[in-house]
Amino acid sequence: MAEHCNVQCRYCCREVGITYHGYRPAVTKEIMTPEKAVERVFQYMNERLKVVGIAGPGEPLCNEATFRTLSLVHDQFSDLILCVATNGLLLSEKGDILADLGVKTVTVTVNTVNPETVEKIYAHIQGKINKKVAETFVEKQLKGIEVCTDNGILVKVNSILIPGITMNELEEVAVQSRKRGAVLQNITPLIPLGEFSGLRPPTCEEIQLVRKKCEHILPQFRLCKQCRADAVGVPGLGDVVFERM
Ligand code: SF4
Repeated sequence: MAEHCNVQCRYCCREVGITYHGYRPAVTKEIMTPEKAVERVFQYMNERLKVVGIAGPGEPLCNEATFRTLSLVHDQFSDLILCVATNGLLLSEKGDILADLGVKTVTVTVNTVNPETVEKIYAHIQGKINKKVAETFVEKQLKGIEVCTDNGILVKVNSILIPGITMNELEEVAVQSRKRGAVLQNITPLIPLGEFSGLRPPTCEEIQLVRKKCEHILPQFRLCKQCRADAVGVPGLGDVVFERM
């Protein structure tokens, strides 16, 4: 699990130490060491376990432990599909390394490709936010998708639907991501937290409408349950669990 993050999304509220309540992204019971992560894979190893992912509660690519974990898991469970979720800031630099470590799928959160909207969504990107920083962020995210797909990694794009902010932005995200080789888009509703706690989540109708507009550009993923970082299970089968003790 990735402890630190290099940006601050205005909707993000990271919490470590959460056990039985708190079922949403950026929440986990604990930050596991790479060795503990391998133990956990052993613990849940069965014929249904196909994918192991590092998804937070922070940004995997700015945590060295991510790379050690991937290496250990790849060495010991070469049949498992390795997956990493990222905000994309470091993806163009790290895409080659991920491929070398055996990563087969990457999920990049791209909420907009419009720098003006980036400034509305991110409180800072590596400590700063202005037009230039926002432009560079979008460029790096898109370049990162390209580097991954060039390395044979399948890329899914996660996009958060935020009423009044990204409602009309996700088609262009789909267009630009597809151009760089992304194969799937996962549009998920805003969970109003942090600086965005006063915003409303989108309605089901709004989500369906935006997915419909985007699906002629990129296939849409509809099984997302907005899992915690420490979840284990198959989305859609109702058997997703997480560490309670
Ligand atoms: Fe939170 Fe992820 Fe945004 Fe970092 S990139 S602030 S962990 S949602």
